[in-house]
Amino acid sequence: MYNNNPTIKDIDESKQGDAFFKEQVANNTGDKNKKFYIESYGCQMNFSDSEIVASILADVGYSSTRDMEESDLILINTCSIREKAEDTVRKRLRVFDKIKDKKPGTLVGVLGCMAERLKQKLLDQEKLVDLVVGPDAYRDLPNLIATAEDGDKGINVFLSREETYSNINPVRLGSNGVSAFVTIMRGCDNMCSFCVVPFTRGRERSRDPFSILAECTDLYNRGFREVTLLGQNVDSYKWKNPDTEESIDFADLLELTANISPDLRVRFSTSHPKDITDKVLMNMAKHENICKYIHLPVQSGNSNILKKMNRTYDREWYINKIHRIYEIMPDCAISSDMIAGFCGETEEEHQDTLSIMEIAQYSMSYMFFYSERPNTLAHKKYEDDIPLEVKKRRLSEIIRLQNQMSFEHNRKEVGRYHKILIEKVSKKSDQELAGRTSQNKMVVFPRKEAIIGTYAYVKIDDFTSATLKGHLVDEAEYLEQTKQPN
Ligand code: SF4
Repeated sequence: MYNNNPTIKDIDESKQGDAFFKEQVANNTGDKNKKFYIESYGCQMNFSDSEIVASILADVGYSSTRDMEESDLILINTCSIREKAEDTVRKRLRVFDKIKDKKPGTLVGVLGCMAERLKQKLLDQEKLVDLVVGPDAYRDLPNLIATAEDGDKGINVFLSREETYSNINPVRLGSNGVSAFVTIMRGCDNMCSFCVVPFTRGRERSRDPFSILAECTDLYNRGFREVTLLGQNVDSYKWKNPDTEESIDFADLLELTANISPDLRVRFSTSHPKDITDKVLMNMAKHENICKYIHLPVQSGNSNILKKMNRTYDREWYINKIHRIYEIMPDCAISSDMIAGFCGETEEEHQDTLSIMEIAQYSMSYMFFYSERPNTLAHKKYEDDIPLEVKKRRLSEIIRLQNQMSFEHNRKEVGRYHKILIEKVSKKSDQELAGRTSQNKMVVFPRKEAIIGTYAYVKIDDFTSATLKGHLVDEAEYLEQTKQPN
């Protein structure tokens, strides 16, 4: 569906469960023959965490493999956001079970949110699981593996108030060598009533900016041309220098990252509507290399439902924020998340979601019907009382509207000019390349002399619902066509 968007809410079905393999992890110490296989599910934070895990494992001599049958350690980095994600993980564990039968001694570990949420239950119910490791305990993996190798279960699900893995240089597994994700904070202090994240990922903490900037600079020096600053709620990033008492907020961090090089594109995700400030918007407008794209989940367009969701803003407040974004950056694209059929949602309240979508003119959205998660505030406080067929019908109305808007967005692009960062060879033809606009739209174009990892200028000629098609133009034509009137 809407899957060409690397945001933290990423539900890129094609990526779910990808085994990392592209960049083999170097063996540094220990047993050079040990191999690990890892699958990741869920949001981009999980994919990013898998790169941290790979780095920790490399330090104790593990290299990665895409072939689970030859691995000594099978890891699954899990998601608890929806029941379906947990079901998928359980199915994968059955598959790993067969590998264990064939190759006794292979260890199986569950990482991430599901490990945190189900803890002991996983060890009891899934007898084949040897390791259960929460998102703040990855540094302990070598010890836990040793424990499991001795025949005991390795479990560590302690949530930390400090851990940011700031000194770990992630191994860029599965990378295209052009764009990379850089985690700037962990956890979340918001208590949206439908969400498990505060329980599975713990309290919010920001990583020190020096290590973030060092990581981004290193990526740039290695040829990467785009970083996406990741966090559950990046706009509440805050770091205080213990020596000088100087504070750095997200707008500052964004600017510092953009200043590494004008040739380094900066994206970020996810923004919370209550926290994104004018200072962030102004810095976005000021720097050409900060991409004009904001993922700003609304969840519902109705103030009563937003209150029940504990989103801490109402409809009017959100609409004002949207207007402010377009006022400061008329060319900015905005995307969203929507939940259909939250507890007690009336037909009129659902209509408010449809109407706010039209006001916001989202370029794309991640859309789901409400799925109750155990132990969340909504589970404790509200009845999940909307019948499934009503939830599904409302969701289909939301999807239909988004499809129309996405189509219209793309239609309007025909004849426009864009600067794109070339990411890869097109899936459909090796004679075509694909790259993104600042607004996060994928453009496919005949490759000619263009090179992956560089910028190019294109004119849009055609479109499908998901992709723009264009051809290369020279810089002079692009500048002429996009110059602002005096
Ligand atoms: S902001 Fe809300 S939805 Fe997002 S991670 Fe935090 S609690 Fe969950």
